[in-house]
Amino acid sequence: MQTAALIVAAGRGTRLGADLPKQYLPLGEAPVLRRTVRAFLDHPAIDRVLVVIGPDDLPLYRMAVGDLDLPAPVTGGASRQASVLNGLLALQDHGIKRVLIHDGARPFVDSATIDRVLGALDDDPGALPCIPVVDSLKRGAGDMVAEPVTRDGLWRAQTPQGFRFAEILAAHEAAAGLNLTDDVEVAQRAGLAVRMVEGTEANFKITTADDMERAQAFVRESNGASVPADIRTGSGFDVHRYADGRPMIICGITLPHPRGLLGHSDADVGLHAITDALLGAIAAGDIGDHFPPTEPRWKGEPSDTFLRFAGDLVRRRGGTILSIDITIICETPKIKPHREAMRNRIGEILGLDVERISVKATTTEKLGFTGRAEGIAAQAVATVRMGPAG
Ligand code: MG
Repeated sequence: MQTAALIVAAGRGTRLGADLPKQYLPLGEAPVLRRTVRAFLDHPAIDRVLVVIGPDDLPLYRMAVGDLDLPAPVTGGASRQASVLNGLLALQDHGIKRVLIHDGARPFVDSATIDRVLGALDDDPGALPCIPVVDSLKRGAGDMVAEPVTRDGLWRAQTPQGFRFAEILAAHEAAAGLNLTDDVEVAQRAGLAVRMVEGTEANFKITTADDMERAQAFVRESNGASVPADIRTGSGFDVHRYADGRPMIICGITLPHPRGLLGHSDADVGLHAITDALLGAIAAGDIGDHFPPTEPRWKGEPSDTFLRFAGDLVRRRGGTILSIDITIICETPKIKPHREAMRNRIGEILGLDVERISVKATTTEKLGFTGRAEGIAAQAVATVRMGPAG
């Protein structure tokens, strides 16, 4: 079934106080009208999109949508109703069966609303998206409140208003010269039944400067959501040799083992690798830059200090730690029985959910220095998202 969208963009938008009609004002990277037109061009059920423009607006129209696949625009009349009639007349020889008549200044119409309007036309000759009135209503008398008005049965009408084409064209021709509020009123005057379908708050009409500001905020928000997250990854690697008479501390846990690891600090090979991974993710040097082993004050220091520092630095630079993954490479001790305790300890130090922390272990099949049990290696990867949490 041939379906057209008729976009009415002939208004001057004088209420906005801008030099340009509101439908040509920039909204993000594109004029308002371009967003509106794209919503219908991109909808699979719409075969033809025709825009009705003001008599002087052809240059503006070309700048806004000249590169899109559209038929030549139609010039509007003295009123909105006259503009719609001009548009309908221009569509009549194209086998159009259904038409959606939409305000050019409603750029945030979504495809689900278009679907609902088209769906209603299966049963009725007209369809209107609308939303409930939520504010209390009052009738005024001068500056004073005269009386309350019940909200029951009251709705706010939006567009696109959808119609079977032949019926709405005949209705508009019959109503020519009258000044009716919208196309639903034109349809009803001709006795056409109009079904109400659900609209959306986002599908508001840009009328005032406040509306334009709301629209800009809306675009900024949706652009923000579509910008790829700034995700950074860092890797860390560390090795410590076995030593007698030292504790065996890995990932903050003291393991029962006849030997420990040699180092200036507590020689926690695991926390050192994670610390370097975090520093790497924010390109902030390495653990030796921040905690030189030549400095006596770091002698015997628990490596919690280094890891906590790196985690804080990530946060100070605007980052959020997303995940930590570490592999301990050694023949002994057995890591697996202590894995959960290590994950918990790392989580405690970094203030990070344990679900985001992975501890793994492997041997090197008795090959190399780890295989010969001369030392323990650890490698870690940290993933960090920069920018606001979300
Ligand atoms: Mg180290």
